[in-house]
Amino acid sequence: MRQNTQHILKRQKQFVLWFTGYSGAGKSTIANAATQRFSEYSEQVQLLDGDVLRRGLCSDLTYTDSDRDENIRRVAEVAKLTLDSGSIVLAALISPKQAQRQQAREVFNKGEFIEVFIDTAFDDCEKRDVKGLYKKARLGEIKNFTGIDSKYEAPMHPEIHIKTAQQTVEECVNQVFDYLYSQQYLTK
Ligand code: ADP
Repeated sequence: MRQNTQHILKRQKQFVLWFTGYSGAGKSTIANAATQRFSEYSEQVQLLDGDVLRRGLCSDLTYTDSDRDENIRRVAEVAKLTLDSGSIVLAALISPKQAQRQQAREVFNKGEFIEVFIDTAFDDCEKRDVKGLYKKARLGEIKNFTGIDSKYEAPMHPEIHIKTAQQTVEECVNQVFDYLYSQQYLTK
């Protein structure tokens, strides 16, 4: 359905899409699909996936509150550099605390930071257990696991609120694009 779309998307403002939610909520899946769609439009786009960054840039960090603060601080700074190089940026990381997301927001100019709440019920994430992490956390093999022995504070006023239980991945991505068009980040 999206043939001949190469020239119909115009970026009016720079922005970072910051995906937050439980492990297994669908952050990477939706951010990957959105990244793919931006590249179909020939847009320069960079996905910063928390799981990937934790294997490299942040491999020295654990999941304690202070290390999570540092993890988020680093990702926000990398996102800012990437944004300023002219790229659309998508960052997908649990970022469990309101204060951490606020600190990330403050790295950017007003209007650049778009918080995307990937709202999947904790029980559904545990049932999916795509990475087998919930099982390990229940067995005590992983400490400070979000939703089990570490708290997740749901965003109170996210710019985009996506409920994955009621939509396909494509519909979730459409919701992101609808927001970007409605707020004139993009025009056709
Ligand atoms: P996260 O990055 O939040 O840890 P992942 O994207 O790795 O989560 O995993 C989410 C899982 O949920 C995937 O297996 C995905 O296929 C599944 N899923 C089911 N429905 C949806 C949906 N509507 N949106 C996103 N993911 C979904």
